[in-house]
Amino acid sequence: MTMAHIAGYPRIGADRELKRATEAYWQGSLDRQALEATGRELRLANWADQRAAGLDLVTVGDFAFYDQVLDVSVMVGAVPARFAAEDEVARGEVDLDTAFRMARGRAPSGTPAAACEMTKYFDTNYHYLVPELHPGQRFRLASARLFDQVEEAHAAGHPVKVALTGPLTWLWLGKGRGDVPEDFDRLTLLDGLLDVYAEILQRLGGQGVDWVQLDEPALVQDLPLAWRQAYERAYHRLQAAPVKLLLASPFGGLGENLSLAVSLPVAGLHIDVVRAPDELEAVLDRLLPHKVLSVGAIDGRNVWRADLALWRERLAVARMRLGERLWIGTSCSLLHVPVDLEAETTLEPELKSWLAFARQKLDEVATLARLLDGRADAADRERMEAASRALQARREAKRLHRPEVAERLAGVSDDDARRRRPYAERAVAQQRHLALPLFPTTTIGSFPQTDEIRAARRAFKAGDLSREAYEAQMREEIAGAVARQEALGIDMPVHGEPERNDMVEYFGEQLDGFAFTRFGWVQSYGTRCVKPPILFGDVVRPAAMTVRWSQYAQSLTERPMKGMLTGPVTVLQWSFVRDDQPRETTCRQIALALRDEVLDLEAAGIRAIQIDEPALREGLPLRQAEWQGYLDWSVACFRLTSAGVRDETQIHTHMCYAEFNDIIAAIAALDADVITIETSRSDMELLDAFQDFAYPNAIGPGVYDIHSPNIPEVDWMVALMEQAAERIPVERLWVNPDCGLKTRGWAEVEPALANMVEAARVLRQRH
Ligand code: GLN
Ligand code: ZN
Repeated sequence: MTMAHIAGYPRIGADRELKRATEAYWQGSLDRQALEATGRELRLANWADQRAAGLDLVTVGDFAFYDQVLDVSVMVGAVPARFAAEDEVARGEVDLDTAFRMARGRAPSGTPAAACEMTKYFDTNYHYLVPELHPGQRFRLASARLFDQVEEAHAAGHPVKVALTGPLTWLWLGKGRGDVPEDFDRLTLLDGLLDVYAEILQRLGGQGVDWVQLDEPALVQDLPLAWRQAYERAYHRLQAAPVKLLLASPFGGLGENLSLAVSLPVAGLHIDVVRAPDELEAVLDRLLPHKVLSVGAIDGRNVWRADLALWRERLAVARMRLGERLWIGTSCSLLHVPVDLEAETTLEPELKSWLAFARQKLDEVATLARLLDGRADAADRERMEAASRALQARREAKRLHRPEVAERLAGVSDDDARRRRPYAERAVAQQRHLALPLFPTTTIGSFPQTDEIRAARRAFKAGDLSREAYEAQMREEIAGAVARQEALGIDMPVHGEPERNDMVEYFGEQLDGFAFTRFGWVQSYGTRCVKPPILFGDVVRPAAMTVRWSQYAQSLTERPMKGMLTGPVTVLQWSFVRDDQPRETTCRQIALALRDEVLDLEAAGIRAIQIDEPALREGLPLRQAEWQGYLDWSVACFRLTSAGVRDETQIHTHMCYAEFNDIIAAIAALDADVITIETSRSDMELLDAFQDFAYPNAIGPGVYDIHSPNIPEVDWMVALMEQAAERIPVERLWVNPDCGLKTRGWAEVEPALANMVEAARVLRQRH
């Protein structure tokens, strides 16, 4: 019998129950017991769903109140001293509030302290809390939560597989913090860590757990030799455990780590054949005869329905060769897809028939396993045929393929993606056109999204406010923002983005080819969830999207109003993207639609246009060998969007992440006239990369951190800009905050910007 399982399930609940309960607990309106009860109910419901769908094992260990990597940190006692948990760790039970303090700096109990760093998990939009490591760190088993959950699942009568972040991936994700020597080697901590993992596995074995899946996505990245050797050491050490280990490598191919992975002394291997279909055969050829192979065939990263008939055919050989040693699963945890498609009662039925969310993917896994075994019943066959019919309809759907889009793409030439003159010449034309002072001031786009703005949008969406009334209110907001910027003396004002709920959704809603769910939430971090649009068809812009707002804003001021768009790579990156053509092609379609918007803005008299690409860097593939290919097409897409304008029209871009060193050539290749970046927390050190590269265009290094409610001092900002001026010629420097201001209040924004403008004035006098 082919075993059916999943790598993990979303824990947020179909109606974001976990978010509500956790936030209520933080606010004090729900007690600990009730919070724990919600967690238990969600786990029990998720396991029951897995069993009802026909999975052979339920997955335990994928639940977390905040983050599963944080839970491992807690379990192995890696609780930084500032959370004052020494005795808790020693006692062997770290309190849930301690974990919350690690995650967010505070909790209903305990003293607030600076939260742990949070960053994106591999190439997903999920954020994990970075384990804090230091030389000589000791580990000890410091939480019994996992064992309690196993107990719960057993009590409910379920056959259990435990899923846990593997020891090397946990270390790989960790970072030295505090005064840790520069050459600190995390691997020196491995042996101590393995002691605790061995103890965990021992306890799980004692509970009667048969299988433990250790998630080791580090294996799909480029690993230094020492780390590959450490894998051998670690898994040899763990093989003594009284459980069977399933080594899982989600998110990509094993590549040069393939021989390593197949040779490790574990009972089974789980591979991601959605991302790396070609590795199946190589693994089949090299798998030792006693090992299980779990094939992750059902996509855990996207929302498209699986072609069960196709997978049955593709995996027939694997079934024949492996017999009972074949398992079927999801490519990765279903954490990365929305919970239940059935909740989408307003989604257009044909599109809906092409989709599968987590709940539906359970059925797909179980059905595929039965199909491969030849024990499918009539319902299974009907499910397979229904999938085939739906996918056939999807392939043939006229509205996905708009001939005019393909035609236009085919006609794109290199010239379309190149500004007419080099930057140095454009800069002269722009200066004539814009007449800006030295150290021009601007902001990144959004101004405070006040309660009134949000209430108006809600009322408009609910049909309680007419479009005219809504738009009138947005115009009033814009007028207010422009007046404030005039009073402050900002050289290049913005309209403030009051009409935008979200920088991707706003554009997706106005472009053909995108669909929106009502409940399609995916955990981003902690209790924060996002609802990515579904990009299902060719992208067409039926009408201008932002022009009337920018034009109105420009009509209120003599100063050059900056138009504001989200770039093609960011729209792509923050959506569920169609899987029937290369991402590059989809991105080029978005680029063409945005190019028309850029040209319309220019024609409407907008002299500067910002195209935000905060997601450009996070789109980098997990393997460095694939970086260049990605950067080539993503940069080309940005240029296709931006390069149609005249010399004197100034193109800005904005990025807010903290690493440019390794992609600086691509940043320069964007050829934006001005790039504004987040730098204030790094003391302008980020500019070193620009200096070393001799970055030729203008830069606005953020002079204050918009995440903080503190009002930045004039002197502080002047000092930062002086540091910038040591690296970049002053004629090419702009003065602006780190990022958009939508999460702040005007009471903070106005004095902060007043100080920023004053800082620019001081700088002009000095230079
Ligand atoms: N223009 C956007 C804003 O100001 C940019 C947001 C971002 O960088 N993520 O809100
Ligand atoms: Zn930003």
